[in-house]
Formats: sequence, C-alpha cells, structure tokens
Amino acid sequence: MTREELYQSIYTHDTIYLPPHEQTTAALEVSLGCSWHRCTFCDFARDAFHIHEPEKLEQSLRVLSQLRPDDTRLFFLGENAFFMTAEQIFSIMELVSRHMPNVREYAMYSRIDDILRKREEELFLLNARGLQALHIGVESGSDSILEARQKGITSAQTVEALQRLDRAGIQYYLTIIPGLGGRRFSRLHAVETARMLNQVHPRNIWCLKLKLWEGTPLYKEAEDGVFDMMTPAEILREERLLLQNLTVSDCLFEDTTVLDKFTIQGMLPGQKEELLRAINYLLSL
Ligand code: SF4
Repeated sequence: MTREELYQSIYTHDTIYLPPHEQTTAALEVSLGCSWHRCTFCDFARDAFHIHEPEKLEQSLRVLSQLRPDDTRLFFLGENAFFMTAEQIFSIMELVSRHMPNVREYAMYSRIDDILRKREEELFLLNARGLQALHIGVESGSDSILEARQKGITSAQTVEALQRLDRAGIQYYLTIIPGLGGRRFSRLHAVETARMLNQVHPRNIWCLKLKLWEGTPLYKEAEDGVFDMMTPAEILREERLLLQNLTVSDCLFEDTTVLDKFTIQGMLPGQKEELLRAINYLLSL
C-alpha cells in the first residue's frame, strides 16, 4: 500500500471535506452523516448519522500516527462531530494522546444546537483540553429564511451559542450562504445576517456559493417557482450590502466564488473599503 492509499484507507469517502483554514490539518474521522439532516439546500449529509466505535478510531489513529507522527493539531471529521457529548470528546482526546502525543489542538464542524446542548463548564473544559476552533454553517441571520430552509435554529440561538464560545475561549469560523433568501428576501438576508454577525466575534466569515442540488427540496422549490434563485451579480450586490452593514473586528472575510470566477479576501474592519472597491469594480465589468 502506498502512503496515499494508506491515508485514504481510514476515511469512508474518497473526498474529505475540510474547512478552508484546516486544509493542512490531519483529519480523524470520528462520525459520519449529520444529526439534523433536514436543511432544504443541503446535498452534503447523505450518510445515516453515527459516531464511530473506539476500535475504528484506534485503527485510524495507528495509521495517522505512522504517517503524521509530529502533528500538533487534529481535525475531528464528521458533518457535525461536535454533536458528541463532552465525555465522548474527552475520551477520543484521550485515545489521541496515546497514539499522537504531540497533538495539543483540536477543531471540528459543529451545529449551533450542538453548542447549546453543552454546559458552559463543559465548553471551558473542552477548551482547556485543547478544543481550539469550531467551524459552523450559520447560513443566515434572518429567522424567516432559517425557518424556510429548515435550518432548525434561530438567529438568537446562534448569537447565544457563539457568545458562549467567546466566554469559553473557543474560536469559531463561520459560513454564510449569500442568495439563500432568494431574490425576494435578498435585502432582508444581507441586513439580518450582518446584524447577527455584529454581535459575535468570528475569526472568519466565509461566503459559500449556493448551489441547487438536484433532488433537494430547494431544487424543487426553484423548479416550482417558489424559490427565485439569484444571478451571480445579484448575489454579489447582496454581499456588498452585507459588507456595508458589517462592524465585526479581527475577522477575515472571504468569498472564493465571486461571479463564479474571482476571489475576494480581506481583514475586517481594516480592509472593508478595499473589499467594497473590489466588489464595485467586479460589478462594473
Ligand atoms: S446542518 Fe449542515 S450538514 Fe446538516 S443538513 Fe444542515 S447544512 Fe447539511
């Protein structure tokens, strides 16, 4: 077995989806599928949700410790791995420390309700034991859009959960989806998302491209004319409105799919004007 084949052998699927800022982090697959599984735009969560048994984790850790013995950071892979209880996470960290003693930092994907289910003391303890960052798809700050897309959370819950992370010292990287409200609710989506983000302290806001996946409820809504999908230029205008309303600090704002071919990236608030100039330029092309 080659090194690549050995590495691949520990994952269920050929493609591993790591967040942009964890591309070089070693990944330990701890769970499969999404515990929620209902967002109408999502084509991502196809597997039935389950958390892997310790035997499978040990097997993967043996491979990882062989291939990346000096790594100090580990990503717990799984659509919302933070669904696990604090106890479950601690016991996996314990396994990791036996096989990869240099690992000091952990990151994983989370839903907002995964955070709210944990007590504040547990969040503090998780941080003390190395949980450094959560990557979370918050998608929108508008309750009506969140409800229509069946995200299963409200913007107030998102703010509450993220403020708990602030207090516990756990960093968070957020994904939003411009265009998720459709043409009709574009303005509401931009303004309400900015309002929500301004109450928290994300390290990063990443604009994820909305794609209509065949077979999803949102695809059907678009076919039936209930959801009015926006053009890339309309989405960029919405993103401009969002940016104009954002007052977050020490936060990297980025979109790698602007007009389907450009990337914009800048620190907020310092590079806000530069970002807006770039958007205006792209819209003038
Ligand atoms: S929470 Fe995330 S992975 Fe789960 S269904 Fe919604 S978008 Fe998909």
